[in-house]
Amino acid sequence: MSTLKAVRGTRDLLPPETALWNRIEATARAVFARYNFGEIRTPVFEDTGLFARGVGEETDIVSKEMYTWEDRARAQSEKPQSLTLRPENTAGVVRAYIEHGLGESGQLQKLYYMGPQFRRERPQKGRYRQFSQIGAEVIGPPSAGSESPLRDAEVLEMLASLLDELGISGWTLELNSVGSPADRARYNEALRAALVPVVSQMCEDCKRRAVTNPLRVLDCKVPADQPIIDTLPVIADSLDEASKAHFAAVTAALDAAGVPYTRNHRLVRGLDYYTRTTFEFTHGGLGAQNALLGGGRYDGLSEAIGGPKAPGIGFAMGEDRLVLTLLALNEQNAGAQKADAYIAPLGEGLNAAALTLARELRHQGLWIELGEGGFRLKKSFDAADKTARRIVILGEDELQSGILTVKTFSTGVQTKIPRTELAAFLSL
Ligand code: AMP
Repeated sequence: MSTLKAVRGTRDLLPPETALWNRIEATARAVFARYNFGEIRTPVFEDTGLFARGVGEETDIVSKEMYTWEDRARAQSEKPQSLTLRPENTAGVVRAYIEHGLGESGQLQKLYYMGPQFRRERPQKGRYRQFSQIGAEVIGPPSAGSESPLRDAEVLEMLASLLDELGISGWTLELNSVGSPADRARYNEALRAALVPVVSQMCEDCKRRAVTNPLRVLDCKVPADQPIIDTLPVIADSLDEASKAHFAAVTAALDAAGVPYTRNHRLVRGLDYYTRTTFEFTHGGLGAQNALLGGGRYDGLSEAIGGPKAPGIGFAMGEDRLVLTLLALNEQNAGAQKADAYIAPLGEGLNAAALTLARELRHQGLWIELGEGGFRLKKSFDAADKTARRIVILGEDELQSGILTVKTFSTGVQTKIPRTELAAFLSL
């Protein structure tokens, strides 16, 4: 029988790397709290219709990447429900916003989430079929100020602060505006017209997109198509006065706060629901999959899935890619961390006493690895050196006298410490 392995595109996260994941999540939670965001947890699967309507039938995600299945019908007369593992979390958050009438409070809702998402993409470094996103949404009725460019600027400033706090240096913020639905329709027509004379020289995907969704041509990565794409009209020229003023207010606030950005005219994002501001934070250390996070404004999403008018702005960060970036930067490599002490009982008869000592020290907040009295001393020393900064030797003499032998590996110094002073010594 062949051995079973994790499914293609999925992977196990193991210590010590999981310590880095935990640190990222703890930092994100702390930053979100400072900006007055609360956590939302939505189900991992939803009715397929939510994504078809909320993300867009024409997007790659919905048209070819979703894990969808028919649930068993409860009764013969019932139609089986089509369910899908969430490929992203914004649609779920907006569904919950509508379902729980969160807009009725008249307040802005500031919600963050973290958890697994599922897309049937071609796996490669930084791209998985199960991956984890940390994201946030600011959404509410227009009377709560949800359309204000200040909200966009605040979210972007928060992201800059979060990446800095995580120790991710060298990020780039790319910013654009895709305008209102009317602006986009106008731009789509301009693109469609501009593509007619050149599309025959472009890739097969672009030929299809030129007909179905010309905006997507801008996402094309085929090198030979790039010079052609550079000659196409830019969306900035199709924006109406209100969209231009909105974008100008976002950039003015970012300038005032000292958050650097560059304008990327081709940033139109993969999801259909974006309006006005779109953005991406990228990092050079990531290679081909260089997007750390993406997001934008989605003023029409709530209405698209049957809810009230509820403009919003949000983002999703790829946690897998944050981890890759931090490992590449070699900052706070979780593998470098070691326990405060390794307790080595001298003989199996001292195992129970060693557990008691470990319990005492752990209750005092120390990080302790407990050895095994059945090991020879040399083996205990080797194991301790790999996992801890110090070794504490617990023999019959030490137990009786209450004076323990402690060796610090970094200095090689061996000292005798009374049990009452041990915790203080080990925490140094
Ligand atoms: P999106 O929801 O497509 O806007 O993606 C937001 C972020 O999620 C991206 O910038 C990536 O960092 C991350 N991401 C998207 N798809 C994947 C994937 N298949 N594997 C790993 N990370 C991903």
